[in-house]
Amino acid sequence: MEMRAQLIKHNRPGTRISPTSVTIHNTGNPNSTAQNNRDYFSNHPDAKVSSHWVVDDKEAIQCIPENEMSWHAGPEANRQSISIEVCEFTDPVRHEKAYLNAVKLSAEILRRYGWGVDRLTTHQRWTGKYCPRHILPIWDKFVADVQAELTPPKKRLPPKPKKIEPTLVHDEESGTTLPAYVIDGTTYAPVRAIAEAVGRTVVWDAKTNETTIKKAMK
Ligand SMILES: [Zn+2]
Repeated sequence: MEMRAQLIKHNRPGTRISPTSVTIHNTGNPNSTAQNNRDYFSNHPDAKVSSHWVVDDKEAIQCIPENEMSWHAGPEANRQSISIEVCEFTDPVRHEKAYLNAVKLSAEILRRYGWGVDRLTTHQRWTGKYCPRHILPIWDKFVADVQAELTPPKKRLPPKPKKIEPTLVHDEESGTTLPAYVIDGTTYAPVRAIAEAVGRTVVWDAKTNETTIKKAMK
């Protein structure tokens, strides 16, 4: 997704704000691109509507600096919230791509301010308007998707090294002592040395890669 600023001329009062949240909208205008929406704000002095960001399937355009007021969800929202208009498409592929770009843009803004997903909100929460109309029904998923975008991928931990300690195995009958190891609580000693210490012979079969302790000779 390309991100760029193309600041608008109109619908931009210039009032300073200290943003505390990010408000999500859908444009309500299917198949209008980020550029179309940005140009509408810029070219219609009496529209009384604008947004800090507009995002579609290809790009995110910043229309107003985030520390200036945009006109998106009534006075209370306007004086404290960064607005994102998410474009809608009748083509489901483009629609989904715009959604995914909105997730990325939201995460980018939250990361920049050091905010968590609790700072995400909806137009509906400010004024009751059913907006963002396509995201409200899946709001929890949207928040989870932004959270996933914010969370760095977990590094795969190397397997825990086994605890290996040297030990000694004593054969009382032959008086032999053999060096061995305790690996995670189990004692391992060389089979041939142990077997021979107790008077047995050991055969290794190269074909099967198996070891046999032969029957004791009587
Ligand atoms: Zn809205």
